[in-house]
Amino acid sequence: MSGPSPLPKTAPDFGSFIGNARAVDILRRAIARDRLPHGMIFAGPPGVGKCTLALMLARFVNCLAPERDEACGRCSPCKRIGAAILSRRLHCERRADRPCGGCPSCKIMAMRHPDLHLVEPKEGKSVISIEQVRDLIGEVAFQPIEARYRVMILDPADRMSIEAQNSLLKTLEEPQSRTLLILVTSNPHALLDTTRSRCRLLHFGEIPAGLIERRLVEVEGRPAAEARLAALLGGGSLAAALDFDVAAYGGILEPAFDFVSLLLGKGAFRAASATAAAVAKDKQEFRFFLDTVSLLLEDVYYAKIDPGRVGRLGLGDRIGPLARSVPRRVLVRAIEGVRKLQGDLRSNVNRQIALEALFIQVARR
Ligand SMILES: [Zn+2]
Ligand SMILES: [Zn+2]
Repeated sequence: MSGPSPLPKTAPDFGSFIGNARAVDILRRAIARDRLPHGMIFAGPPGVGKCTLALMLARFVNCLAPERDEACGRCSPCKRIGAAILSRRLHCERRADRPCGGCPSCKIMAMRHPDLHLVEPKEGKSVISIEQVRDLIGEVAFQPIEARYRVMILDPADRMSIEAQNSLLKTLEEPQSRTLLILVTSNPHALLDTTRSRCRLLHFGEIPAGLIERRLVEVEGRPAAEARLAALLGGGSLAAALDFDVAAYGGILEPAFDFVSLLLGKGAFRAASATAAAVAKDKQEFRFFLDTVSLLLEDVYYAKIDPGRVGRLGLGDRIGPLARSVPRRVLVRAIEGVRKLQGDLRSNVNRQIALEALFIQVARR
């Protein structure tokens, strides 16, 4: 029996991956030196492509004929692992309730590579169960079926119970030479110390808005104005920017402007509270709301010092009067308060109460 074929001689540049050049570079060098860690944690904010990069890595190390530092995209492993990458953004083209199985999207989603294991919470569940982890561990006892590298991705890895993480430890301690285990998480501190200490931690950061905007225009074909707005409001997440629905967004801009007017104009708490209750229901919508409030406050700030920079959200003519009536220190306090709340959103704050507290803190001056 022949041993595994060697890694591709070239290192990938993961050309279509945007942002996080440093993380990509670390992987690239590890591949070039044939020193890819068996256990890795991809940690960083949601929607910046951690899982996508893990899948791209799986595709590259298994490509049969890489060209110019890239997976060829045409060989059988490339096609099937590539289908897993595409599937993350595909939906059935014919049915909304369940996949039809016959449309082009369904055909791509049905493609499988036997050595690629992407483990996510099952539909309707919030955790990765111990059974799912045990199935994975069972696989490791065998050689990969056909791949040079079997790749196991757990996403989000912090949704494993302590029991499930413990059961994974032995696999991490005695890594199989042809298995890569990648734990994807936006909250690495929720992983056990023992899990973390057995993995190489790779940090991801937010993607600059300019890069997202360019991607939306050049690759996704979105209109320039829409791409700019989506990138600004995506908060450094390509996934959020891709999901951005400009029609639905119309429903956020006005409440955001009203809230800013109340905030800076010492408006009534009751009105602010009603807005807070309405926008707090959905986390993603709340994030867009908060990002919009933040951009509006920055516009008001610039209106005082550099009016040329005002108008990113198309409300330029309504910003001026607000700017004239509010002291700069109040503005700064409001901007700081919103930024803190944007950060707090990463943990599970009560969104309505947090927004009301911000209002009280800024408006009662
Ligand atoms: Zn290939
Ligand atoms: Zn379908």
